[in-house]
Amino acid sequence: MKIVIIGGGAGGMPTASNIRKYDSEAEITVITRDNKVSYSPCAIPYVLSNKITSFDDIVMKSPEDYKEKNINVLTEAEATAIDAEAKIVTYTHEGKEKTIEYDKLVLATGGNPFIPPMKGVDLDGVFRIRTIDDGKAVEEWAKNCKNAIVTGAGLIGIEIAYAFKEMGINVTLTEMMPQIVPRSLDPDMAKIIEKYLEKEGINIALGQPITELKGENGKVTGAVFGDGTEVDCDMVILATGVRAELGLAKSIGCECGRWAIRVNDRMATSVPDVFAVGDCVESYDAILRSPTISQLGTTAIRQAKTCAQTICGKRSRFNPVLNSMVSKVGNLEFGAVGLTTTFAQQNRIRTVTEKVEALTRARYYPNAKPMNVKVICDIDGTIIGCQIIAEERVAERIDTMTLAITEELTCFELSNMEFAYAPPVSMVTDPLVIAVEEVSKKFN
Ligand SMILES: Cc1cc2nc3c(=O)[nH]c(=O)nc-3n(C[C@H](O)[C@H](O)[C@H](O)COP(=O)(O)OP(=O)(O)OC[C@H]3O[C@@H](n4cnc5c(N)ncnc54)[C@H](O)[C@@H]3O)c2cc1C
Repeated sequence: MKIVIIGGGAGGMPTASNIRKYDSEAEITVITRDNKVSYSPCAIPYVLSNKITSFDDIVMKSPEDYKEKNINVLTEAEATAIDAEAKIVTYTHEGKEKTIEYDKLVLATGGNPFIPPMKGVDLDGVFRIRTIDDGKAVEEWAKNCKNAIVTGAGLIGIEIAYAFKEMGINVTLTEMMPQIVPRSLDPDMAKIIEKYLEKEGINIALGQPITELKGENGKVTGAVFGDGTEVDCDMVILATGVRAELGLAKSIGCECGRWAIRVNDRMATSVPDVFAVGDCVESYDAILRSPTISQLGTTAIRQAKTCAQTICGKRSRFNPVLNSMVSKVGNLEFGAVGLTTTFAQQNRIRTVTEKVEALTRARYYPNAKPMNVKVICDIDGTIIGCQIIAEERVAERIDTMTLAITEELTCFELSNMEFAYAPPVSMVTDPLVIAVEEVSKKFN
């Protein structure tokens, strides 16, 4: 079987490796534009802040490592056309146009940072962050930079803004919505992080889109906000979201939804023998039961496994998503899963919510830290969302809540479940239990 995979990121490379696990004979070729494969874009902010020493450390495998598994990786190669009838991909590599036949094709073309339609985005000193080369360019420019603006206060924007602060750069984080992380957090929870970032010395400008970037001699010098305010800067990071790369998929008639390629739960597109994974595909929301977008490394890797199993004739299904996420800036961890109150209400789901402040360790144990937990239930008490902020132990609790929501547990059921305890790692009644007990009271 001849398999061609277009894209060598978190979707493409795990698809190749998983196929090899199930099929030692398959001819697998990966075509990717990038000069590296198998690295973690998620780690770029932590290299900038020097938590990780070098960009080399975040490259986990080279094309030669894949060669050992008999996977042929063509870097700096671009797939330019697909003939889905004849099953041929045309690509350019080393200055030549070439073709390759396939039996099964996987589109793992990822996405591109969204560039807002405004004046000045082409000035020197304006960056987007997607690849290691983007990270290296920012690192280099930052050496001579005093004032930076990061626009877009999602996870990437916040992580980059904090990295700049640690590099000694005066940084302003801007967001057109009236709160940070609007996709995953309610305003009251976002406020806790906003206060922390401000305490750490990051300027935050909310509720104002940037309308124009100004420059002199081709270099960025400032940003103009919707209300006419101007802020000086010598670097701008556009962290304003990711748009799926759909050109090739559309050219062969793959059905696309509002955001990305439509796939079934086995990662097959609407075109025979063409599959798709990662940031370029739509997922299915586990609570709303409707298409959504889940542009996360975790989602790409899980989709890759299902895609490989499907291609190799194994039974597999990619489950609907809850967009479980976690991040860490400075000492603060924050995570979320499921729907926010705002998003639930926009989708006409009536919610009952409670927010509690518990502790990460037993009250008497040294260095116990506050843990803020917000639980969102529907009107029957079924848990549909959770947001947690603390200096430690957030990720494991988000995972617990992911399981609870997946299993459609109610707050009443979760409040009777068993949780492990020892004074250095938890309270005797876990913060999650405290939160669901409190929300349960609202149903009495
Ligand atoms: C700074 C940053 C931090 C992040 N942090 C997290 C995190 O903490 N947790 C998390 O879960 N996720 C995180 N993500 C998201 C995660 O990295 C992405 O969801 C994931 O990398 C998507 O993988 P992908 O393979 O779909 O796309 P990509 O990694 O974008 O790979 C797609 C590849 O396809 C190539 N390609 C596209 N078209 C063609 C073509 N025609 N020919 C050849 N090659 C082509 C591209 O050049 C690219 O190399 C972060 C992302 C960034 C940028």
